[in-house]
Amino acid sequence: MRKVYKAHILFTKEKDRFEVFENGYIAVEDGCVIGVSNDLSELDCEGAEVTDFGNSLLIPAMNDMHVHAPQVHNQGVAMDLELLPWLQQYTFPEEMKFADTGYAERMYRRFVSDLRRFGTMRACVFATIHTESTRLLMRLFQEAGMGALVGKVAMNRNCPEGLSESVEDMVQGYEELIGDRFEEESDGLVRPIVTPRFIPSCTPEMLRACGELAARYQLPVQSHLSENKDEIALVKELEPESTSYGDAYDRYGLFGQTPTVMAHCVWSEGEELQLMKRRNVMVAHCPTSNFNVASGMAPIRQFLSEGLRVGLGSDISGGHDLSIFQTMVYAIQVSKMHYQQNHDRPFLTLSEAFWLATKSAGSFFGQVGSFEPGYEFDALVIDDSDLNHDNYSLLQRLERYIYLGDDRQIEHRFCRGKAI
Ligand SMILES: [Zn+2]
Repeated sequence: MRKVYKAHILFTKEKDRFEVFENGYIAVEDGCVIGVSNDLSELDCEGAEVTDFGNSLLIPAMNDMHVHAPQVHNQGVAMDLELLPWLQQYTFPEEMKFADTGYAERMYRRFVSDLRRFGTMRACVFATIHTESTRLLMRLFQEAGMGALVGKVAMNRNCPEGLSESVEDMVQGYEELIGDRFEEESDGLVRPIVTPRFIPSCTPEMLRACGELAARYQLPVQSHLSENKDEIALVKELEPESTSYGDAYDRYGLFGQTPTVMAHCVWSEGEELQLMKRRNVMVAHCPTSNFNVASGMAPIRQFLSEGLRVGLGSDISGGHDLSIFQTMVYAIQVSKMHYQQNHDRPFLTLSEAFWLATKSAGSFFGQVGSFEPGYEFDALVIDDSDLNHDNYSLLQRLERYIYLGDDRQIEHRFCRGKAI
């Protein structure tokens, strides 16, 4: 049945500008956008029920391209170490607790509810090595009606005993999760994603098995790439044949052979960037995490000018803020620091940051992140009346919401047309 929503509608079809429909109408059928117009009669919606959101803003929902569900307990703490010691001292001990499904359920319920709260309707999520807890997380996403690619983490070296799994058990765990038919039951909203933690955590046998899983079941892949300089040096040591960190993944079939998203890419350059471009590997840019773990500043303008696919990630708990709106603000600020060092690299505009978080990131999930015809209706209704205390334009209202707003202004959430 066709539905129509009325509000001030804003989205980014192109990265360089917003489409703005003041008092616009959007028609939705079977979870997908039919059209947007200021004139209801153009939408061929006679007799359809019209829901009027009054003076609120209606925008595409957020996509989080890199986040660790089991690190929800560590959010906002442990900011005093760089990546490798940070993993050993804070992250791995926390993740070991997810052998206990009772603990996992408590933390994962909190995580899914927080993600919803901040308007993120789709996410690429790392779980832990534990199959039971990962299944639980997938079930929670399915019950919530939200979209998630969920990765049981593969790791078997440079980690504590309790987080190391044999290659056979890893493969068996994935096959069990695939057998659970989340993909069929959720109509593709919830699916497994092959998730080698990163090269230092996986032996060549483990990486090979991950590549084979992705190919055999046509599953997407997520991991970390070129985040920290010590990490890159370690990868060079562990994979001496490889010409770059990205090439090391590539040799195991984990670099764009199926849809792939790599977090960070702070230090990616030259051949690695070219390979990412050729293979259509998406960058999950995680600026808050890069600051907190003191990794560096990803060259976001360079990614865009080279034509790479890019989305934004909160990277809880390297990142402290689950809001993708705040992540946009940080992405713009990082780009301004680059600009300070090199005026040939223009900083991100608001429309570019918004496009990264919506249409660009959303492409990883299908036709998601825009309100063009055929796109899935993932949307947020923002009642910004408490922020809109003077004659702000619609674009200024959106900008103020992005910079100053939070979950309190999000009045309604939709994922694939369904109220969440
Ligand atoms: Zn991460």
